[in-house]
Amino acid sequence: MNALNDSARSGAESLKFRSLGGWVELPSDLQPALEGQVQADVIVVGAGFAGLSTALELRALGADVIVLEQEFAGFGASGRNAGYLLGSMGVEYEFFANRVGVKQATQFIRFYDEAVPYVEGRLKTLGIDCDYNPSGVLRAGVHSSQEKRLRQNMALGQKLGAMTRFVDGDEMRARGIPSAFLFAAEQCGGTLNPGKYVSGLRRAAIEAGVRLYERTPLLSFSEGAVITCKTAHGSATAPVMVLATNAYTPQLGVLRNKIGAIRVSALETQPLSTEQLATLGWQGREGIITPHYTMESHRLTAHGTMVLTVKKLGYAYGSKTPNIPDQGAYKALAQVLRERYPALQGLGIQHCWSGYVSGAYDFLPVIGAMGAKQNIFYTVGCTGHGLGTQSFAGSLLAAQINGDKPELLAALQHKTPSILPEPLQWCVMQSGFAAAKLMDTWTDKKVRKDKARKG
Ligand SMILES: Cc1cc2nc3c(=O)[nH]c(=O)nc-3n(C[C@H](O)[C@H](O)[C@H](O)COP(=O)(O)OP(=O)(O)OC[C@H]3O[C@@H](n4cnc5c(N)ncnc54)[C@H](O)[C@@H]3O)c2cc1C
Repeated sequence: MNALNDSARSGAESLKFRSLGGWVELPSDLQPALEGQVQADVIVVGAGFAGLSTALELRALGADVIVLEQEFAGFGASGRNAGYLLGSMGVEYEFFANRVGVKQATQFIRFYDEAVPYVEGRLKTLGIDCDYNPSGVLRAGVHSSQEKRLRQNMALGQKLGAMTRFVDGDEMRARGIPSAFLFAAEQCGGTLNPGKYVSGLRRAAIEAGVRLYERTPLLSFSEGAVITCKTAHGSATAPVMVLATNAYTPQLGVLRNKIGAIRVSALETQPLSTEQLATLGWQGREGIITPHYTMESHRLTAHGTMVLTVKKLGYAYGSKTPNIPDQGAYKALAQVLRERYPALQGLGIQHCWSGYVSGAYDFLPVIGAMGAKQNIFYTVGCTGHGLGTQSFAGSLLAAQINGDKPELLAALQHKTPSILPEPLQWCVMQSGFAAAKLMDTWTDKKVRKDKARKG
């Protein structure tokens, strides 16, 4: 299986690629693939934060639950992300408000922000130790020209209910935040090891009696009062199905008109020495993201490395999700590392990886039900916020399937704009990325110019 090959170098100049991401390994207790015919109350497809949370919550309500996972739990974005548990921080609030109006946008912000205490509570209830550091998350500017937009965004967020405060330069320095970051908006939340979080959910699900079938891709399914899911060596039937397949969903032939698969990349350094950590300061180890149009994220890990993500996004024609290196993104992140931390010049890069998030044109979550009997539920489109929101969506979907009517879930219903057919979609994505890059390059040039002037 190519996807599970060991790390490989794809050229003399390239940075080392880790195909599974930096946080997970193939589980030593890989669960058996589905053989033969099985039945359940609910079939969940996909074992990331969304699928495992839904399965656990349903199981707690007494349901008999099957999870089908094409590789292993945590193979997707849930095992590859940056590990920020962040509420609505980083959301472009004006997109939300313009699209659905202030009243409904407030509900979306509530959904994002309530996801933080939800996950914090689940870590305690399920006894998952994933190095969670409730340090708060900073959206920090690297150039003074970013301050106006950051403040405007923050003000609109506050109007929509987001609990954010401004951190000025004096406070940034007093807290030892690396000097590249000048000022910030701050929100609650923090950072964790997403590999340990998703593995903890997996363990809890198995212990709770969820039947998890790994290396079992869903190949096709039938609609109706009873849904039949076909896999390579068997089939599963249930009156309810949940698609928790995130960016891979369009490949199943559904929701193609609502979401696209966007490639996001990450870089992890070698562990920092005691001297390097002392030089850096950053005692609170706050998770930092920047207000670039294509953001940067910067964090320290509990195992002493630094993880940087994003800077350059990717899109493969037809919303495909190949598990291949994106050397352009890794080099862009390596440049960010050198420029933001000049005191760490000798710090080596351990490896890089990429994963896929799903996004709608309006950047809003896409959660709903489909099928002739409206018994096929889905939750996608949480872009770079899914650690919290996709976990939380699991509890809302489980309640809905149990016959309740969670008012927050109802409040999120809206019309998702239609994705254009290919090749127009490819062109839209490439132009969007190019425009964002242009704006960000301009900001970064100003940072370099200011630095050169100061010597
Ligand atoms: C580099 C990177 C950094 C990120 N950083 C953050 C962050 O710091 N904070 C944050 O909140 N979010 C972040 N995200 C986004 C976050 O990781 C996702 O939103 C979240 O993990 C989505 O969870 P999920 O369960 O919906 O999807 P996934 O974790 O992608 O799970 C989908 C699962 O479905 C399985 N699957 C797909 N097709 C099939 C099939 N046919 N049959 C069976 N199984 C199938 C896949 O193998 C996969 O395991 C980041 C993402 C990336 C890639």
